[in-house]
Amino acid sequence: MTYSTVFSQLAPDALSMKLYSTTAKEVELALRNPSGNIDSLLALLSPAAMAYIEPMAQQAAQLTRQRFGANIGLFLPLYLSNLCANECDYCGFSMSNKVKRKTLTQEELAAEIAIIKQRGFDSILLVSGEHETKVGMGYFESMLPIVNSAFNYVAMEVQPLDTHQYQRLGQLGVDAVMVYQETYRPHTYAKHHTRGKKQDFIYRLDTPDRVAKAGIDKIGLGVLLGLDDWRLDALLMGFHLDYLEKTYWRNRYSISLPRLRPCTGGITPKVELTDAGLVQMICAFRLFNPQLEISLSTRELPSLRDNLLPLGITHMSAGSSTQPGGYMTPDSQLDQFEISDSRSVEQVVTQMKLRGINPVWKDWEMGWVKG
Ligand code: SF4
Repeated sequence: MTYSTVFSQLAPDALSMKLYSTTAKEVELALRNPSGNIDSLLALLSPAAMAYIEPMAQQAAQLTRQRFGANIGLFLPLYLSNLCANECDYCGFSMSNKVKRKTLTQEELAAEIAIIKQRGFDSILLVSGEHETKVGMGYFESMLPIVNSAFNYVAMEVQPLDTHQYQRLGQLGVDAVMVYQETYRPHTYAKHHTRGKKQDFIYRLDTPDRVAKAGIDKIGLGVLLGLDDWRLDALLMGFHLDYLEKTYWRNRYSISLPRLRPCTGGITPKVELTDAGLVQMICAFRLFNPQLEISLSTRELPSLRDNLLPLGITHMSAGSSTQPGGYMTPDSQLDQFEISDSRSVEQVVTQMKLRGINPVWKDWEMGWVKG
């Protein structure tokens, strides 16, 4: 069985009605018993829970401190390529967008890595557009040994693959795979994904099952907030997470909460998620799942990122580039989306320390395992 079978039995419209009819009493009940309880997650994501942000934030901060200490892991995205064979109307890499295309060579990859290492990072997130033929397994197999020799922790955010391909990535040193469903509403998904393999909603939905079956340690889920009603999408992601944790209990899980950002040829968000809504969502997930890793990208403004630090965030990027070759030669024409926090790594780290948070550069040390 895979998650699509479970998902087909959910009734999203009924869940939506429940979200919007949740009472204050139900939120108070959820606050007393939030962990691992999907009904509580629903209540904490509801509009009624907005009045309880303060107690939610206090509980979330306490749980985060208990489980993760005053630590936040730092990572950088490294864009391998902006080639893409899909059409997603919110993304600058979409196939029909007339932008410059670039795929890193081995030499260019090594040059990017040298700059990232100078900045102190030991965790890397490899990102690419989804292009099977030019940026597929053959390309990954030629690039991963270079990456793996430089970083102790390697995550990938590329096109969904088959189980045997994930097994191969695991052999090549990949520790984590991020695969964002974008939206859990099939009709909205179809509207925004109009060309290419990404149109297959079910294949994407079952990707975390394949990653887990391949034995890769960490799996990242995410929705692009703004494509549909964020409360319902977040709740449906909660169902997915709940299924995965119960089915593949040895794995680690993370979620990402990106808000739709302007991009080349892009669209404006259909449903706006306010800053207060983002805080509510982070706190709701922390209360639902104290061990969940929650990642925050440079899509958010510096002031908001700084304020969110103690509430539940466990990983963040800093000093990011969203283009292939962008650390060596910045070129805004190649960007996937605009970033809002363009501070240097040093500036971000200074803010973290001022708030009593330790920046953690190393998530994992392979030598400890091999020894
Ligand atoms: S979101 Fe991903 S799949 Fe869609 S166009 Fe952008 S890079 Fe390609």
